[in-house]
Amino acid sequence: MDTYARFSLVFTTVIVILQASRAVVTRTLDIGYTLSEDSANWPTNRPIEIISLVKGLTPKGFWYEANVICMNEHSSTHLDAPSHFSEGAWSVDRIPLNHLIVPGVVMDIQEKVAKDSLAELTAEDVMAWLDKHGPLPDRAIVLVRTGWASRYGNKTAYFGTDTKITSKLAFPGINVGAARIFSGYEEKYGRRVVGVGLDTPSQDHGPSTHYPTHIELAAANIYGLENLADMSELPTKGFQLMVMPMNVKGGSGAPVRVIATIPDPDGDLSSGPPTHPLGQLLYLTPCLTLLVTLLLRP
Ligand SMILES: [Zn+2]
Repeated sequence: MDTYARFSLVFTTVIVILQASRAVVTRTLDIGYTLSEDSANWPTNRPIEIISLVKGLTPKGFWYEANVICMNEHSSTHLDAPSHFSEGAWSVDRIPLNHLIVPGVVMDIQEKVAKDSLAELTAEDVMAWLDKHGPLPDRAIVLVRTGWASRYGNKTAYFGTDTKITSKLAFPGINVGAARIFSGYEEKYGRRVVGVGLDTPSQDHGPSTHYPTHIELAAANIYGLENLADMSELPTKGFQLMVMPMNVKGGSGAPVRVIATIPDPDGDLSSGPPTHPLGQLLYLTPCLTLLVTLLLRP
């Protein structure tokens, strides 16, 4: 074997080994709730109504069903567009697509919440997270896990009151100090936070009546995800989120599906080639290298 062929063989082998070592099997999970008349709904919202218009066999012999849905934009698991709290900021339909398919991280404050149901993610919590886990990825969504999802389904426990008086609401949230780190993150660190989300009814904790966290984030065109479901399967970082709100023109918010793609160590490696163009290129690199080698061989 000549030197050229030997070099090509070694190079190809190294690429194959590198590829195998970076192969990650993933699985997807929905971290929102289904939308129904029983969904969590802000106390001052109109009730969610799903009205059956038609359901049955038509005279022509085929099945037909259709509903009408009546609700506030901010019902069930939903996205708060920046325009919800900041004049001229992005409405749902103006949020760029590359702010909706993005990396996620989880900041967990369950321990604090177990001691104080009004606890908030603070600036100190965020700095401690950054010290421990490193900088946020660019275009990140920061998810705050309070553990409140375990109360979902019991409206009194979830909202902290059985009244419609919003000053009596009691649940954890995100402090404005933490929000300021997210809104200023790009200027300070060159990476942008595009959204925050949490497993409670609102970004600001229950008793808030002036919503400083909403206002701070909205002014920076950072959207919010509220009434997210259980996050216990999410890793602290290293996962992707796909945020799919209804594309309401001028919408201040919209029901949303949030799908997380997480590494799955028990997954099946034979689940097929990658679908991303870069992944496909890497996947095909050994074959391409061999082909080029054969073609260029003197
Ligand atoms: Zn909202």
